[in-house]
Amino acid sequence: MRGGAAKLFRDIYGYEYSVYAFAPGRVNLIGEHTDYNGGFVFPCALNLGIEGAARLRNDNILRFYSANFPDDGIIQVETASLRNGGWAAYPLAVISAFSAMGYNINSGADFVFRGNLPDGSGLSSSAALEVLTGLLLRELYGFSVTAQELAVFGQFAENRFIGVNCGVMDQFASAMGKKGSAVLLNSSTLSYSYAPLDSVNTALVLVNSGVKHSLASSAYNDRRRECESALADINGVKKTPSLCALGAEEFEMYKDAVKSPVCRKRAKHAVYENQRTIDAAQALKNGDLKGFGRLMNESHLSLQNDYEVSCAELDFLARSAWETTGVYGARMTGGGFGGCTVNLVKKEFAESFAVDIKQKYKEKFGTEASVYAVEPGCGAHLY
Ligand code: ADP
Ligand code: MG
Repeated sequence: MRGGAAKLFRDIYGYEYSVYAFAPGRVNLIGEHTDYNGGFVFPCALNLGIEGAARLRNDNILRFYSANFPDDGIIQVETASLRNGGWAAYPLAVISAFSAMGYNINSGADFVFRGNLPDGSGLSSSAALEVLTGLLLRELYGFSVTAQELAVFGQFAENRFIGVNCGVMDQFASAMGKKGSAVLLNSSTLSYSYAPLDSVNTALVLVNSGVKHSLASSAYNDRRRECESALADINGVKKTPSLCALGAEEFEMYKDAVKSPVCRKRAKHAVYENQRTIDAAQALKNGDLKGFGRLMNESHLSLQNDYEVSCAELDFLARSAWETTGVYGARMTGGGFGGCTVNLVKKEFAESFAVDIKQKYKEKFGTEASVYAVEPGCGAHLY
């Protein structure tokens, strides 16, 4: 993929770029909807993502072009306004976030982007774009900002200026990923550790349902509210900073304080998913792939039945995978209501698994599922 954005920059603007970088998308192996509940997540950065090239200008104009949105042409904004309704809202949100943090963008610049994350697959192209923009800004303007800050500024940009109330997982994975490893992140402290994924004997396979998550953003906000309500009820009987700060035993002790049965189910998912995530990272560190796979399957069932963010297509893909030879585990990944399942498969079965699941999906739904064998890639970096 390297090479695309550099040439694009020359083609679009007719002169040389000065900075050229890449930021990956991510897939979450386990720990879904735990990051905004103060719990653990266990994502890895992908070898797919977005690359970008940029150069400072000597006026106050910012220009943006994306190979993924060619019909939008070159989008031009002044540094004083920083608003745009299209895709450039994302890089502009990051610029606004930097300004809010005291890093002033006082001269213009030209940017191009080119991504290869499948559209609508839920692999967090928005986080990749935010982290990439942050990295380009750091280099262009000489800001002293750590990789971890790139993640935090990206999340702040998405929360505050895009209006998506996401946790920090996606941006953290994109900024801090490590080749060949997944990262266990404590989302309340941002402490983290890496666990290697055996890529010699196992394959990480994504199956894209092709369903676009149109329900996702409203349901996401509902789930956040339901969890907040459960937390408030529990705090009436037991002071706790977040749902995931409760262990399973404590939760069982205090769960009846949660008045709404729906909110109680949401809280149950958060608490048990957090424990599964810790256990899964340990299983991977111990080389226990079967144990890891079992936890992935349990995670899916919890998302399906208690958190209720799955859909018929994702349930079918997970279930089919569970019945397929050579699959350690499979679950929906990402916010839900569409996007991908993530499957951990014995290497020698990866190809037959892909053929098999595509065929079953076609028979059941009459539409194509796309299958990608991916690898844990490194976090955002300069070329
Ligand atoms: P995802 O799950 O991929 O993060 P989002 O809806 O959060 O989905 O973000 C997708 C949006 O991010 C796109 O609609 C577009 O505005 C922006 N985006 C992602 N990738 C690119 C790209 N390569 N070039 C320009 N904009 C992009
Ligand atoms: Mg996103």
